[in-house]
Amino acid sequence: MLDVLRQPENTHLLEYVTRDPFGAHVFPGDTPDYSPEAFLADLDEQLRDTAPIHLWSYIPTCAYRCRFCQYPVVLVKGDPGKLTQWVDWNIREALLWLETVPSLSSAPIGEFNVFGGTPSLLPPEDIARLLDFYRSHFNFGPETTVRFEGDPSTFTTEKLELLAAKGCTKLSCGVQSFDDPVLKLSGREHTSEMCVDFIREAQRVGFERISIDLMYGLLDQTVDSVRRDLDVVLETGVNSVVCTKLHLKSYAETRTGVAGEKPAAWQVDSYRARLEKDGHFWPTLDEQYEMRAVLTEGLRAAGYVEHPTMYFAAGGIGPEKWKSIMVDQDRQDAEVAIGLGGSSSCRRSEAITDVNWQTYAAAVEAGRVPLGSATAFSPEGQETRAIKMALTTLQPLRDSLHRNRFGRSLFDEPWAGRFRSLEERGLAVLTQDTVTLTPAGETLVEAIINTEF
Ligand code: SF4
Repeated sequence: MLDVLRQPENTHLLEYVTRDPFGAHVFPGDTPDYSPEAFLADLDEQLRDTAPIHLWSYIPTCAYRCRFCQYPVVLVKGDPGKLTQWVDWNIREALLWLETVPSLSSAPIGEFNVFGGTPSLLPPEDIARLLDFYRSHFNFGPETTVRFEGDPSTFTTEKLELLAAKGCTKLSCGVQSFDDPVLKLSGREHTSEMCVDFIREAQRVGFERISIDLMYGLLDQTVDSVRRDLDVVLETGVNSVVCTKLHLKSYAETRTGVAGEKPAAWQVDSYRARLEKDGHFWPTLDEQYEMRAVLTEGLRAAGYVEHPTMYFAAGGIGPEKWKSIMVDQDRQDAEVAIGLGGSSSCRRSEAITDVNWQTYAAAVEAGRVPLGSATAFSPEGQETRAIKMALTTLQPLRDSLHRNRFGRSLFDEPWAGRFRSLEERGLAVLTQDTVTLTPAGETLVEAIINTEF
């Protein structure tokens, strides 16, 4: 991959990946300082007649803080009262959204996810209360799928069985690595054995989709360690894997959903210097691409499909539904995030919920939807966003779909020159109706959409 990046015509891509920003999930508007009230009005209008949307609840509680974590986390070790409080605030915030965006209550929910933080830390009665609330107040139908996120140390058998009984068919679990020293240095308070036990128990209970997060580029991680991660994935047969590169560029700068205020420990220069002085090391860019290749090629050879970028699913179970709702070229529907730092969007604008827990709580207590900021998309910005999102799916972009929605062709300017340039550099293949990324284009999709569109 570095050969491609070192071509003079790809200097901007090399600079982008070297600067280490995180952008594949981020599609901020091109018109800043939009009012949150205007965003809520745009959303309400879009939801009056909509295909199924993505609804999610963010529970920010964690028992410890990982060294790479930039999320707005609230530590609650040994304080169950705080957990219950966050469920109370989440439910109150959801009621405020329903009041302020009247069409939200009837909008069909394609997928409802409880993300975190570590929602699996919640006591069983709060898990049940949260899921029952959303099911009874939003438009869940037979097609609505429900997922719950957590970590391997807190997904107990009792909680897994409760989740299954409440109609939850999907789980997401932060594993990050199956290498114990790498986990320890990352600040994770679980072992690789606990991760495998979680997968086996979730399979026994019968969840349809069990998704684990793996990271590459971690402190002291080697290509061999990632090879062993792949072996464990294949041995356990876990059917969904999200592979993320460690990103230490500030999420707040890129408007990444759920960006917190506090830097991750690994973003602090003096701490990084101390780690390096103690003999620890970061994988080089070359090694990071090798790690990515190990995972991508190994998973593909075993029949997993990558759709969208970084999300791998075993053959037959299909792409992640919530990602498809957001980014597939024929969908790109709304997303509503309820909870500290969540990102919500519709076709005209997007907004991020307050990331400071005190001002968040004060807004909810005062009866106001606690949005922190919003941006809008100009007509050209909406078209650009649609192309960028569709490219991240790694599926062919269809000119016919684009023309139906925007009235002009992908092969007219201003797009034609950009796609031709990708083709000349071996990053895409064009046919009469489609643009398809090549394997090199797929690997670099995040850099391409953030520097060329
Ligand atoms: S990475 Fe996840 S588990 Fe770790 S502190 Fe952040 S939110 Fe909590």
